[in-house]
Amino acid sequence: MTSAYDKPIPIPANEDLTRPFWEAAKSRELIIPYCKSCTNLFFYPREVCPNCFSKDLTWKTMSGKGSVYTYTHVRQAVHPSFQSANGHIYAIIELAEGPRMPSGIVGCEPEEVYVDMPVSVVFEDITEEATIVQFQKS
Ligand SMILES: [Zn+2]
Repeated sequence: MTSAYDKPIPIPANEDLTRPFWEAAKSRELIIPYCKSCTNLFFYPREVCPNCFSKDLTWKTMSGKGSVYTYTHVRQAVHPSFQSANGHIYAIIELAEGPRMPSGIVGCEPEEVYVDMPVSVVFEDITEEATIVQFQKS
């Protein structure tokens, strides 16, 4: 996408902590950190469980189904690469398995989005190396 500033879209940092998430997204799979000590699923990835502070963590594959917990219509993007004529939808998605995650909603007009709207995951290749996780109305 070109913009007035012609900056490339920001690429997610591929650090050790988040690498499994981005690699799974590239393979069209949504995975979420899981605490083996207390069975807590959580997002965003952290080095310790936010519930019990255990470091005994792994990843769990999610169904990709969920619903809109809350959302906003962003008319002025924080980065020119995200700016479009009609803005974009930034949402907190409550996954069917319980955890909530920030994401974007694509494939519909902002006026069509509502709280509790059922959504399913979609994966968007933004470069050859990077794939981002978004959601669409199911
Ligand atoms: Zn825990």
